[in-house]
Amino acid sequence: MTAAGTAKTCILALDQGTTSSRAILFDRRGIPLATAQEEFPQITRTEIIRTQPAGDAPAEDVAIVEHDPEAIWRSQLSCARRVLESSGTAAEQVAAIGITNQRETTILWDRTTGQPVAPAIVWQSRVSAAICGRLRAQGIEDDVRRRTGLLLDPYFSATKIMHLLETIPGLRSRCEAGEILFGTVDTFLIWRLTGGRVHATDVTNASRTLLFDIHRLEWSDELCGLFDVPRAILPEVRPSSGSFGATDATWLGASIPIAGCAGDQQAAAFGQGCVRPGDAKTTYGTGAFLMFSTGHEPVASRHGLLTTPACTLADGRPPAASAASYFLEGSVFVAGSLVSWLRDGLGMIGHASEIEPLAQSVEDSGGVMVVPALTGLGAPHWDPFARGLMIGLSRATGKGHIARAALESIALSVADVVDCMQQDAGVSLGRLRVDGGASSNDLLMQMQADVLGLPVERPAVLETTSLGAALLAGLATEFFADHAAVDEARRVERVFEPRVAEGDRARLLRRWRDAVERSLGWARQA
Ligand code: ADP
Repeated sequence: MTAAGTAKTCILALDQGTTSSRAILFDRRGIPLATAQEEFPQITRTEIIRTQPAGDAPAEDVAIVEHDPEAIWRSQLSCARRVLESSGTAAEQVAAIGITNQRETTILWDRTTGQPVAPAIVWQSRVSAAICGRLRAQGIEDDVRRRTGLLLDPYFSATKIMHLLETIPGLRSRCEAGEILFGTVDTFLIWRLTGGRVHATDVTNASRTLLFDIHRLEWSDELCGLFDVPRAILPEVRPSSGSFGATDATWLGASIPIAGCAGDQQAAAFGQGCVRPGDAKTTYGTGAFLMFSTGHEPVASRHGLLTTPACTLADGRPPAASAASYFLEGSVFVAGSLVSWLRDGLGMIGHASEIEPLAQSVEDSGGVMVVPALTGLGAPHWDPFARGLMIGLSRATGKGHIARAALESIALSVADVVDCMQQDAGVSLGRLRVDGGASSNDLLMQMQADVLGLPVERPAVLETTSLGAALLAGLATEFFADHAAVDEARRVERVFEPRVAEGDRARLLRRWRDAVERSLGWARQA
């Protein structure tokens, strides 16, 4: 068979995360065939920055987090090569590439040489805290919020770009002259993979920059003006499922179409099939990340949650899911990391997975309740001074009770955010779809079903972020024949039905609220 006639057997998903790059090959049934992963260095330091523009507010230590864009590129390319090699797959067999990525992380590079002008500023970096303080003092936050669905926070890309423009001499004029390109990590990878031929991003990544109008789904001149970012550096925004060019044949041995692109949380939501109002997923990793679909309606949260567009499908593709739809997005800061803390901080377990048998060793939490506010509390409390709490200890308390209470606290924290989302959206959740490392914990998933009073659905493929990227790419290239084939790829492995009586659930929620109250403001009193 000639190269052009080689049968297409798989999709290559590139998952460029915060601490590692990964590549996964998926077959036509959405089954992962092979995986390669590579970590890359985190460049971190603290700087003392005066974050308030006026008055005598003290300077603060802020965390600076950077990545070397070349390390991102090298690790991602190497994973792609290794996954093909280890599975004996020729580049010609790959129908398409789908990219999913850490969102918001900001890279500027020279259009001619391809060289980044500075390290990538990672989403976690607070380097632009002073710029955000200055902009907030100008009173633009409400306007920005309405247009972008985001908050005026260093987390998002625009003020990271401003920081580079303000600190690198001559950069602004080079940007205005069209010599410099901006991209989030997806854009940088697409540009490199296509040999500099395509400078593009997708709707979900664009929506995390603070420069994108989520209602009109296009870059906003007004926002570019407010953040003083030259329009010339911005990539073209394309549907998440559609053409992003093709790889230069030198990288992987043959040219492969890039046909899918989405930020990690939106890709996971797509991988989970969250497309109709009230569909929601939680990813249980270090933190817990929730996406709650509000359908075609972008809902402004009254609980400090974000509004964010869902993946878009290329024009002309069926069915209704192709029209713009939106999520409410929220997170619980500490979820799996509570288990890591029990392991590393307290030495209670040797491995994260040991938490489940330990918690199973007792019937119930013995009256113990944990509030996992190790770094403050997010929605609905938004209290940076809240701190972790363990209450209800007695002589009878053992490790099993604490393990059980810890898992329960993760489920209860997620339930609080779900509650905010239901109130904001005016739509009830029917079931919660789950993924991420800690979702393999059956007891935690049962507790989640119990505290929500709703079924919890765990898919067969827990790599939903990569699966989402693969599905986007596969739909655009007709590797997946239709939406039925895509639904088939999202097989459910197990459903956890709620088992507790309503009265017991209400009592647990009351106790939880009481415990949370007691954790609020603790560090302020210190
Ligand atoms: P991330 O992508 O945020 O690094 P992962 O999805 O890999 O996270 O999940 C790892 C997190 O989940 C860690 O914080 C770990 O402590 C926790 N975790 C892993 N396995 C379990 C388990 N069986 N039960 C509870 N927590 C777990």
